[in-house]
Amino acid sequence: MKRRPLGNSGMDLPELTLGTWLTFSTAHQDTANALVAAAFDAGIDAFDTADVYGIGDGERALATALRGHPRETYFIASKVFFPMSDAPEDRGLSRAHILDSIDRSLGRLETDHLDLYQCHRFDPDIPLEETVQTLGELVLEGKIRAWGTSVWSAGELRQATEVAESLGVAGPSSEQPRYNLLCQEPEDEIFPACSDLGLGTLTWSPLAQGFLTGKYQEKGPPPGRSRGSNLNPQGVFLINALDSAEAFGRVRALAAVATEAGITLPCLALAWCLRRKDVTTVLLGASRVEQLVANLEAVEVDWTPELENAVSAAAAGPHIDL
Ligand code: NDP
Repeated sequence: MKRRPLGNSGMDLPELTLGTWLTFSTAHQDTANALVAAAFDAGIDAFDTADVYGIGDGERALATALRGHPRETYFIASKVFFPMSDAPEDRGLSRAHILDSIDRSLGRLETDHLDLYQCHRFDPDIPLEETVQTLGELVLEGKIRAWGTSVWSAGELRQATEVAESLGVAGPSSEQPRYNLLCQEPEDEIFPACSDLGLGTLTWSPLAQGFLTGKYQEKGPPPGRSRGSNLNPQGVFLINALDSAEAFGRVRALAAVATEAGITLPCLALAWCLRRKDVTTVLLGASRVEQLVANLEAVEVDWTPELENAVSAAAAGPHIDL
């Protein structure tokens, strides 16, 4: 597995990272264990999680699956922002909530440090100085090696970098945007800003939650054992596509391009993300090992100008919120 630098952080990551949203839980620990084992076998030693995934359950399942692997052999990224309970203070990017949350995440993840701690969204209710100062202190304390953001605007990323410079603390090292063939938005502003600021990117939902595998049919029920058949309240984005003739049309056109190129549609979709050097690592989701193993072939795809043109034509159109 090739590796790419995480911006100017001094760290590098495999081109593919295993994510844990909706797919890791202590209730299905065997699946989590098998996915982590298959990831290591493939050279994937980086894992993305968040405190809010299963309200701590995702972090716990990941920690259990990582037991037995020396801590220095893998990279863990987690996140803070979303409510962890009904308590009004148990959310957001205040100093108090970040300091409380990092210790809770470290406890659940059975480690003394995270490699990357990400602000899961921007918090308009807290002064940016407070958030940046607190994260900078966590870097100095060694509880985190670097911090990053997720779904922040280009302007917010610039502001955070400037604030960190003025405070003399570590600034953000990465941004985590949604990026897939149906939602190409980061190419407009986020990738250029990250490149200017020396930030890496970890991109999420590369298969638009499985929609870009082609397994959903426009007319007919979603396949059994699929995210679309079991719409977790958090899986909101998928609902949009299951009702979108436009999205189904693009997926049909992309499937034809994949067939012509002799590759699977998921591999085409993943290789398309990887073709951009702005992307440090693509966050893979897999509900079972066979999916992860099949999707690994994406790193072997030869991204030719002909493929670029054919895919651009098939995927043309406004961003779809998926
Ligand atoms: P994807 O878009 O890659 O969707 C993954 C899902 O697609 C799988 O769980 C599986 O679902 C289905 N799938 C994958 N491969 C195949 C295949 N070959 N054939 C058929 N179905 C397949 O990624 P996610 O949406 O899961 O996101 C990836 C990671 O990104 C998350 O784990 C998380 O770490 C991060 N993320 C971050 C967010 C943020 O706000 N920062 C938001 C969302 C995700 P199934 O089998 O159930 O249908």
